[in-house]
Order: sequence, then C-alpha cells, then structure tokens
Amino acid sequence: MREECAVFGIFGNVEAAKLTYLGLYSLQHRGQESTGIITSDGREMFEHKSMGLVSKAFSKEIVRGLKGDIAIGHNRYSTTGGSCLINAQPFMVNYKGGQIAIAHNGNLVNAAELKKKMEEDGSIFRSTMDSEIILHLIARSKKRTLNEMVADALTRVKGAYSIVFLLKDRIIAARDPLGFRPLCLGKLGGAYIFASESCAFDLLGASYIREIEPGEMCVATKNGLESINFSKPADPSAKCIFEFIYFSRPDSRIFGENVDKVRRKLGRRLSKEAPVDADIVISVPDSSNTIALGYAHESGIPFEIGLIRNHYVGRTFIQPEQSSRDLDVRIKYNPVSGVLKGKKVIVVDDSIVRGSTMKKLTKMLHEAGAAEIHLRIGSPMITHSCYFGIDTPTRSELIALSHSVEQIRSFLGAESLEYISLEGLKSCVKHPDDYCVACFNGDYPVDCSNCRTDAENAGKTITSGQSDLKGL
Ligand code: SF4
Repeated sequence: MREECAVFGIFGNVEAAKLTYLGLYSLQHRGQESTGIITSDGREMFEHKSMGLVSKAFSKEIVRGLKGDIAIGHNRYSTTGGSCLINAQPFMVNYKGGQIAIAHNGNLVNAAELKKKMEEDGSIFRSTMDSEIILHLIARSKKRTLNEMVADALTRVKGAYSIVFLLKDRIIAARDPLGFRPLCLGKLGGAYIFASESCAFDLLGASYIREIEPGEMCVATKNGLESINFSKPADPSAKCIFEFIYFSRPDSRIFGENVDKVRRKLGRRLSKEAPVDADIVISVPDSSNTIALGYAHESGIPFEIGLIRNHYVGRTFIQPEQSSRDLDVRIKYNPVSGVLKGKKVIVVDDSIVRGSTMKKLTKMLHEAGAAEIHLRIGSPMITHSCYFGIDTPTRSELIALSHSVEQIRSFLGAESLEYISLEGLKSCVKHPDDYCVACFNGDYPVDCSNCRTDAENAGKTITSGQSDLKGL
C-alpha cells in the first residue's frame, strides 16, 4: 500500500500561503510526488506547483509571492493520471464565472464514463486526472448560484472525494456521501481551516472543530461558514479503515477517533489473537510503531528498536538490478544486531501487499542474528485492489490472493506468520459497520465492476511481486 493525497485550505488569514505551506508540510506523509499552493486576494489567483517534497518546492520568495488571505494546497501521490507536473494539484481552470481551483483526495469510480461522454460532446482535458472532470461538471452546470453549481457537479460523480475548491472569494470543502477519506475543519483566530488530518492544525496552533460530514459542503466566505448538505449521507458510510492501520499519522484525529488509540488497540488485539513465545517485539518503522507498542503492552514482551529507518533517502538512486540485491530495503532499513542477536523476535508490520519487502526484511533480520522471526500483521490478508484513492497493485500481484498463510510464511522465510482477523480489526473502531473493508473481503461499497487500478490503466505487467511469487 502507498500513501494517497493530502488537501489543505484556509480562509481569512493574511499569511494564508505560509500557513498552507506549514499545513502541507505536516501532511507530507500522504503524498510526496508533487505539491502545490494556489491563493486568492479576492481579485486574482496566484499559484505555484512543483514535483517533489514541500520543503524543496517552496522558497521564502515563492511563498511571499502567493498573495491573498485565501489559499488551498495539495500533496499528491498519484492514484489516477501519470506522474508529471501537469497532473500536480491544486488544478486551476477558467470557466464562465472566472477562475476555480480544486485539490482532491480520493478517486472517482465513474470518471472514465463521464470523461468519455464529455469528450464526445467536445470537451478538451488538460490533465489525465479524474479531478478535472469535476471542474468540467461545475462549468457545465445549469444551476444559478456557484454553490448550487458545485453541489450539482458533486451529485454526478461517484466514489471517494474529500475536496477543497478555491474561488476568488471563497473556499468550498466537500466530502463524498460515503465519507471514504477524512476531512477536518479547524479554526485559527477568525480563519477557517480545512485539512485531510487534524495533525495539520497542531503545527499551526489552530483548534480542531469537527469533521466535514459525508455529503456535506462547507462554504467559507467573509460572511462566515455555511453548511450545505448536497447529498444524503450514506447509511452505513464507508470510511477507509486503512486510514487507521497505515495512512494517517498517529497524532491525528479522524473519523471521530484518535489514530494512536485505534492503532494501539490493533496491537493489543493482535497479541490476543496471535500470541507467541518470544524475547522481544520490534516494529517495521514508522507506521507499525504504535501497533507494535500495543502488542508489547498486551503480551508483556518488551518492545525494542530492532530496525532503524532512514528517512532521507529517495528512490532515485536505486536501479532495478540493485533492487534484486535487496539494496532498496537495506537503504531504507538497518537492523540493530545488538538487539536482535540470538533473540526470538516478534516483528509487527501493518500490512503485506506483494510480500517482496517483507521477504527481504526477514532475510536481513535473520542475517543480523535473530534466532526466530515471528511476523504479526496488523491488517487482515489483502485480497482485493482499492479503487477509492489508494495505490494498490493489480489484484493478481497481491500475494494473499492465491496463497495460504502457510505458503506466504514459507515464502517470507519466517518461523511463524499471523494476521489480525477482520472481526478483530473491526472491534478496534467505535462504529465498525461504517467502514469500508473491501480490500480484505471484496465487499465494495459502490459498484466497482468497471473499475481498474492505476497499474491496470497503465497496462503495467506484474513486476517484482510476480517474480517473487514464482519462487513459491
Ligand atoms: S478498499 Fe481498502 S484501502 Fe480502499 S477505501 Fe476500502 S478499506 Fe480503504
């Protein structure tokens, strides 16, 4: 599994661009491929977009040049469309009412169908992103007011979207009726702030107010905040349970719960479901740290730092031929042999997708002296692709699709392997029926019979995962 995207918006602060920069900085974990900010001073819009990390993309001068007291921003990890600057967000167009920009987290499942129809009617698309379709729908809407036009467009798209729109005098934040992705509302003095996760508010000293509800649009203007229900919220909703397992930061509050607390519960439940006699518990940092702590507390087995993660290495220098020599994993993680030597080690990770990384890690830990490796996984077996904004590979690449736990254990080279049960996972959240768990059971909350993953759309063939599977 890979990250998805982050959105941020602020209305009513003279330092809107700077605060958006900081907000995006704290949401960097949700997307590192490209980033961008668009601001408005009430008359004109200003934009800067770049490939790469927030810290690299913006200088002080660039931020200073983004004038105005309204801003939206976006960090992208591409799930639809290719990896290039034209697909970076926020994405801005001119339409009959002026300029409008969008920052979108999620994925539309009827995008191809809508786009085909629009192209047949003569529309020209600048990007390959599904987000651009929403802007076309707004521009084509026959409704009278701007808010009605946006609401009209949103009722025509299906799938996952947490969005902030920027217009010259307002921000509109909206969340799909199923509520797949989080979107929070905060306040800093008199300014309204919208962010994918509440951790963005902490850095700014803003206070958390509430979530944008599924099917709700919040419109921030100089007259205040207006809430519009553009669609009836789905019952049950389909919040992405993976946000708790992996995507969101532990210091965030999303879907009405603290991520850290849910993650610890996951670890405790995993320990109850899959106990093992061992000397230490270690995590695959960073996403699994809190799950591992929960496991350690419940089992009474000490938590140790057995793997060090290097955060500062990009993928640029890793060539495919080096990847086969495990360099991609070695460059990211280093085992602490003094901790591992001669020990029976419980290794807690959040998920196994293809299994290729875990296989290399297991080998590395054995080589560092671990006597036994017991893998404990904080999510059930992933057997289905995600079509709602998470970058999963084609279904055939998922190791759990066609292999038993025992076959996977043997492939990974561990002494034991156990996953948390779906029931166990659901028991860790307050309202288990309000969550999407489709990647574990194929029970998609919207019709996905015509959906394809990014990899399938790109016509990619199976890569490392396939060759790994051949080794089974
Ligand atoms: S399929 Fe999985 S990753 Fe995708 S939204 Fe549902 S729970 Fe989240």
